[in-house]
Amino acid sequence: MPALFVLGYWLVLCIGCEEKVTDMKKFLAYFIPIVLTFVVGALGSYIQGDALREWYPMLVKSPATPPAVVFPIAWSVLYLLIGISAGVMLVKGDMSVLRLWLLQLLLNFLWSVCFFALRSPLMGLLVILALDVVVFAYIVYASSRRPAAAWLFVPYMLWLIFATYLNGYIYINNQKSKNVIVLKTNDTKISLPALPYAVGALAPVMSEETINYHYGKHFKAYIDNTNRLIAGTPYEGMGLEDIVKISDGAIFNNAAQALNHRIFFEGLTPVQKVMSERLQNRIISDFGSIEAFNRQFVDMAIGLFGSGWVWLAEDDNGRLLIVPTKDADNPLRHHLNPLLCVDVWEHAYYLDYQNRRADFVREYMKLLDWDKADARSKYI
Ligand code: MN
Repeated sequence: MPALFVLGYWLVLCIGCEEKVTDMKKFLAYFIPIVLTFVVGALGSYIQGDALREWYPMLVKSPATPPAVVFPIAWSVLYLLIGISAGVMLVKGDMSVLRLWLLQLLLNFLWSVCFFALRSPLMGLLVILALDVVVFAYIVYASSRRPAAAWLFVPYMLWLIFATYLNGYIYINNQKSKNVIVLKTNDTKISLPALPYAVGALAPVMSEETINYHYGKHFKAYIDNTNRLIAGTPYEGMGLEDIVKISDGAIFNNAAQALNHRIFFEGLTPVQKVMSERLQNRIISDFGSIEAFNRQFVDMAIGLFGSGWVWLAEDDNGRLLIVPTKDADNPLRHHLNPLLCVDVWEHAYYLDYQNRRADFVREYMKLLDWDKADARSKYI
């Protein structure tokens, strides 16, 4: 409602703004910086999406907020918009936007201190409310002197209303857990899952010795490292999938390898499985035939250079894809849902097959538990 009110006010001002009709140059001087900053901000956020999400991990996947990327996009656009607007107005000899910009910087700094340093969502909310009042008063004041100025202030006011909503949400949701501003998706500690089969059950394709090393040493180390690295960070308490989606560096490498191995070991079975009719139809529809899929999957796994993974994954439209990833990378980073995978790091097969990766991959196909692909799918 407040956003609609401000938008209506903006429209009334713009309709009544004679400057835009009588002086097209002046109108463009106000309007073009706004359009340009939105385009630059949106483009930059699109390219840097993952990095931006990482700056605000506390907002990821909280149930009542928009997608986490919206907040940093709005934030970036705000600074560009106000900065360029201030420049334009200064060139024209008008100090009002510059004053607003400085005031906004001061209040935003105060907000950051309250929210992040003092960890007080209530004080943060009060600062944002004060900013709402100040900016709205400025819009009324500036537009009474120069109607075209409303073009510059109103997008910022809309952003502020969104920020107020976010701050209010965080304040209300943190009443139960005082001094905690991280919105956790779950509180489950990341732990080594038990194998759904006996250690020697996959032999001879995967010997007991291989499982002891691969599951007992490599997989366990990735789990232990992840827990050690995330302790005391905003990632602590998040689910593994969420950490993989937004993290970087050592945390990403270990969390992603933990997740990759979880999907890998969960997706194996000592009892050879037949695909469900539904999965067969999906594979035939997307790859032509089961044989064509098997051939492409095996070829991809044999041909992948260096260490990595080959995945059966699905996109947002439910289309199945064969996806190769390097090192610790996971399809989740590419907005795809992973269903099954083969590990082609050397540690996965070297004890049993030495350098014969092709033999390993061909034998490995017999161990795939296709029911797990159905279980992980969002389209069955
Ligand atoms: Mn491995």
